Amino acid sequence: MRLDYVCSQCGSGIDEIFVQELDEIAFGFDCLNDAERQELLTFDPDSNTLTVKTLCDYCIAEMKLDLSAPTAKVHWLH
Ligand SMILES: [Zn+2]
Repeated sequence: MRLDYVCSQCGSGIDEIFVQELDEIAFGFDCLNDAERQELLTFDPDSNTLTVKTLCDYCIAEMKLDLSAPTAKVHWLH
């Protein structure tokens, strides 16, 4: 089967992996709860593709910028 990693933020394709069998532990999917699975993993039996929603480097960098903004504000107030 094919694993298709897609950025959930901007929708760009990140990576593509082909596996004989899906090892949920190796991919870290065993750590996800049912709600996260439904949200992050989409399996298409026709193409035998599991789409995995994740974040690309660009969006992670953007988020870090967002996260650092409130901290900067706090510093400003003090
Ligand atoms: Zn992205």
